[in-house]
Amino acid sequence: MLNGGNVSADIEFNKNGCTFCNRTEITYILKETPNFLLAADHAPLVEGHILIIPKQHFTCYGEVPAELDTELFSMKHEVQRFFTRYYAPTVFWEHGIFKQTVFHAHLHCFPWGMSGYNLGENLHTIIVSSQEEVRQWFALQGHYFYMEDRNRALLFAPEMDRYLGIVKNVFWRGIISRGGKVEWRSPQQRYEEGLPLIEAMIAKWRSFQDQGAGYVKNASQ
Ligand SMILES: [Zn+2]
Ligand SMILES: [Zn+2]
Repeated sequence: MLNGGNVSADIEFNKNGCTFCNRTEITYILKETPNFLLAADHAPLVEGHILIIPKQHFTCYGEVPAELDTELFSMKHEVQRFFTRYYAPTVFWEHGIFKQTVFHAHLHCFPWGMSGYNLGENLHTIIVSSQEEVRQWFALQGHYFYMEDRNRALLFAPEMDRYLGIVKNVFWRGIISRGGKVEWRSPQQRYEEGLPLIEAMIAKWRSFQDQGAGYVKNASQ
């Protein structure tokens, strides 16, 4: 955990031991752009579980600078087209440091359809309309967690009750909707059981790429 006085020392330590910087926990890269990787989660919760990871070491997306927003959005749109064609609409999820297991920014992409979260549940803290708001929150308040579906993006204060509420209402429902298992499994178990899911997703990704990645090509191309 980052704490007051030792922030820069901690960041330096995390960077050196970082499994995303040294790519030991990145099993398969679907796509690479100048600043981002699109990679299969190496311990997928469901088929189609992929990650958008900045190549540079940032602790969370609240730290990723505005210059990278356009590239991030086009990566997100490509995931949305992929999921819509082969699975269901996308739910994006970020730990925002809270409950992170790899201390390097990564956006989870799940093909769960709509999140099913109702604003009346009041678990969210703010409705977010830009990455700038995530950066502002991080600069002023620190940790958070984040969820986005086709309708809206939400930021949550890092509190266990909110987190468990979302896991129960959104994650379980999403996992079940894709035929996944909701009982607790260790990352090692998820990794072992995940290989066929990753292979199935990669096969779909290849055919998606072969078909022009969901872009409507114009006559001049
Ligand atoms: Zn890193
Ligand atoms: Zn994560």
